[in-house]
Amino acid sequence: ATVTVGLASCGIAAGAQKVYDAFKESLEGLPVQLDFSGCMGMCYKEPLVEVKVEGQQFIYGKVQPEQVKRIVEEHLQAKKPITEWLVAAEQLETPDKTFLDRQQRILLKYCGVINPETIESYFTVDGYKAIEKALKNMSPEQVIEEIKLSGLRGRGGGGFPTATKWALTRRSPGKDKYVICNADEGDPGAFMDRSVLESNPHSVLEGMLLAGYAMGANNGYIYIRAEYPLAVKRLKLALAEARSTGLLGDNILDSSFSFDIQIREGAGAFVCGEETALIMSIEGKRGMPRIRPPFPSEAGLWGKPTSINNVETFANVPWIILNGANSFNQYGTETSKGTKVFALAGNIARGGLIEVPMGITINEIVYDIGGGLASGKKLKAVQTGGPSGGCIPASLSDTPVDYESLRKIGAIMGSGGMLIMDESTCMVDMAKFFLNFTQEESCGKCTFCRIGTKRMLEILERITQGEGQRGDIELLEELADKIKAGSLCGLGQTAPNPVLTTIKFFREEYEAHILHKY
Ligand code: SF4
Repeated sequence: ATVTVGLASCGIAAGAQKVYDAFKESLEGLPVQLDFSGCMGMCYKEPLVEVKVEGQQFIYGKVQPEQVKRIVEEHLQAKKPITEWLVAAEQLETPDKTFLDRQQRILLKYCGVINPETIESYFTVDGYKAIEKALKNMSPEQVIEEIKLSGLRGRGGGGFPTATKWALTRRSPGKDKYVICNADEGDPGAFMDRSVLESNPHSVLEGMLLAGYAMGANNGYIYIRAEYPLAVKRLKLALAEARSTGLLGDNILDSSFSFDIQIREGAGAFVCGEETALIMSIEGKRGMPRIRPPFPSEAGLWGKPTSINNVETFANVPWIILNGANSFNQYGTETSKGTKVFALAGNIARGGLIEVPMGITINEIVYDIGGGLASGKKLKAVQTGGPSGGCIPASLSDTPVDYESLRKIGAIMGSGGMLIMDESTCMVDMAKFFLNFTQEESCGKCTFCRIGTKRMLEILERITQGEGQRGDIELLEELADKIKAGSLCGLGQTAPNPVLTTIKFFREEYEAHILHKY
């Protein structure tokens, strides 16, 4: 029998370390193996404990240290699962089961399953078999072709075809090339990258190795927020183990391919998620976006050809190489292939880390997977893409979640933050919250982004203080258009989106504030 406690940040914050310690004490002398994993996805039921007896899997939720003794005595010793505490089990129908059943877990398949602090655990789930396959049987061009056939697009939000980016970098002249993993997750409410890195860091390293091989790069950097200490710790462990087992360094797996990865910890500036600012930050300069071209694929880090992808994009790559492009592109829509990870948060009954096939509707995510709203009230809106994204009203909640459909209604896929709001949410307040965030995070280089967002924020503040004036809505729209047109990088270009989409879909709320002075 085995007991596995989920010890990602979500579990630890809910007290999972104490639960782990209680199991350690109670299992002493018993033939039960105690281990820990990363995030199992059901963050709303943390601390989570998986018990496996005679091959059967049971998951207990909201486990407290004082419950541990009973689980050990009744389930592990007397072989009688405590059904009232279970959130999922193969033979048991629980309300939480649909949370898992409606998902399609590819890159999250082993998150919450393997131990993220040992490479041996990753080996048991075909870890590093994809790079072995590529080095032995595939040319770099074939790796790029496979990624192209899979239809994988950048999961950081832009949706740029991954294979095109890699091919451009490969084609750029020069011996020194770089692979960068963008782990500077900064959207309020987003925790996809952190969870993947805390739960399966080797999958990201392997994805970077494959990218390096495909592009002809020998060096990689992971740019990660210093506010993610557990992810940094597990990445450092993973790097050390990969090096000591010959999976990083010179002549990997006895091939002619050499590759190593370094970590750079960012100080938490949102703008450093923008690729040219991120490159500046790695170079030790102030993180500010620059004009493109030249694009990083031609002149990136230290002026050399560089390809930047985010954590989720890299984590998909080993699976695609191992299972083939067609296994991946069978999921999704015509133009958005595969699956997408979301951090389901806000007013939702079952919030957590989910992975769904592209094309699933917002309704299916909110009701089937999320179990409806936590407050029991009606759905009012869903914000995707964080502060750069847009607000989708409940009336459009049958919209499929794919790059094009979301863009058509003024929202964006973003990196995967999905915030659920009920009918009591003030949409003007919500827009003000996000604009306040982007305003504070503007690097100040462009006048429209620096000052325009400030003026928009002042208008929103006076509207929500009951001091709004006739013409304020039009002024917001005019400023928004100018900021979008006059900003250099994505931060400024998308900063007005939450305001514009809430005006578009909830204009009456702005008018009510202005006319009724509240
Ligand atoms: Fe800086 Fe904003 Fe200009 Fe981007 S748009 S470069 S964040 S001032």
